[in-house]
Amino acid sequence: MNPLLMILIVIVLIIVILLLIAFIRTLFIKTKTSTYHPSDDSSRANDYAEKLQKMIRVETVSSRENQDIAKFLKLHKVMEEIFPNVFEKCQKIDLGGNLLVRWPGKDPDLQPIVLTSHLDVVPADGQWSYPPFEGKIVDGKIYGRGSFDVKCGVMAFYQAVEELIIDGYQPDCDVYLGSSCTEEIAGDGAPTICKWFTDHNIRPFLLCDEGGTIVSDPFVGVHGDFAAVGIFEKGYGDIKIIAKGKGGHSSTPGKNTPIARLAKFINEIENKSPFKVEFTPAVDNLLYVMAQHNSNFLLKMVLSNLWLFKPILKKVMPAISSQAAAMLQTTMCFTMQQGSNATNVIPQEAYVTANLRFIPFQGKDESLNIVRQIAKKYDLEIEEITCNDPTSSLDLNGEQFLMAKEVIHKVFPGVEVIPYVVTGGTDSRFYDGKIDASIRFEPVYVSNEQLSKMHGVDENLDINTLPLAVDYYKEMIKIQEKRK
Ligand SMILES: [Zn+2]
Repeated sequence: MNPLLMILIVIVLIIVILLLIAFIRTLFIKTKTSTYHPSDDSSRANDYAEKLQKMIRVETVSSRENQDIAKFLKLHKVMEEIFPNVFEKCQKIDLGGNLLVRWPGKDPDLQPIVLTSHLDVVPADGQWSYPPFEGKIVDGKIYGRGSFDVKCGVMAFYQAVEELIIDGYQPDCDVYLGSSCTEEIAGDGAPTICKWFTDHNIRPFLLCDEGGTIVSDPFVGVHGDFAAVGIFEKGYGDIKIIAKGKGGHSSTPGKNTPIARLAKFINEIENKSPFKVEFTPAVDNLLYVMAQHNSNFLLKMVLSNLWLFKPILKKVMPAISSQAAAMLQTTMCFTMQQGSNATNVIPQEAYVTANLRFIPFQGKDESLNIVRQIAKKYDLEIEEITCNDPTSSLDLNGEQFLMAKEVIHKVFPGVEVIPYVVTGGTDSRFYDGKIDASIRFEPVYVSNEQLSKMHGVDENLDINTLPLAVDYYKEMIKIQEKRK
């Protein structure tokens, strides 16, 4: 037999055997469902919604230019009224508009935990169906700026501590409730709280902050409700790419004018996608959960046999889904541009800006180096406007993540946990390296429509999601007993 034909037959045979193994393995994977059931305790839901309403009614829009501390102090006052036991039993630490409260535990040697979420909100522009700072409750939903981002979270952990104190419970470790007033403007609120901990030689065991939530149908082909727990935050970068030239009249242009060079650069970044694509353990874990919850056999087979299909997925996933691309690599997006001031004048200088989100395995320096190398080819300069590295990642086998999983399974039976990459910024990034671990999860359910209204018009939240949010924080506090 022709040796080439022989090799071909062997290769085909190997491929068939591998596919057969993947096929058989897939047959053994049971299709699971993941469903969220809200609380049916309407009296608790109404009670919590009223407290949230009172918090929404204190307008706490953050402003970079002129941060007004008085309105945050007003919110503190309202919280003192609606959570009287917390403020009677716990020690309030004065940090200006930020609110830090310490609930002393039984064991001073046990590392504390910190429950956090911010008190400030973004402006409420646009035409709202109901006034944004009224907290109107209509058809089981509470409308208002901060209803979902994130006064509901603050209300929930304060209420959890309020109820535990009423029940006579004392935690094992110190429990801190720490809320900044500058999250939306990336101000000095969280760094101030964090500094208080380092100044007092305190290294928290766990920080619970906002991040993911319980969401429906998180990916194409995956149906059900999942608790998306944020495990790290991507780094953030704004850069300016500048092209300089001689300028002149556009009737005699010549080649490689500034805008033409910028265009070539943009093209290369867009078409060649220069950043590394990698599957982290979190992505492996996520894809496996997705496989279990997928009714399409072919997709199930691909997602559950990464040992075979990973090389193909690495190529295909970022190309077909921007969501997947954001999880697998550093991303870069062009956002602003400027050339000359007249249609018939070649600019002496033109620029575009780009926003980058850095992935931990290819952080700020490495990613920007790649961009610089490409820029050099087209004689462009790079100016960093603001750039910070990604945070460290939560250990999926670590005690804190396992605790969060256990609590979620207990409070939200039937809901599967998926790891999630936080692509926006939260306060927890300021604590990176100064705490043992951070769980970025807001324990409320939001529909995809509600999710799209965050920072937008008609932000709202189902009030029947509030009781289980309170229960989540209660259980998070109680589970610390297991650390003894
Ligand atoms: Zn937020």
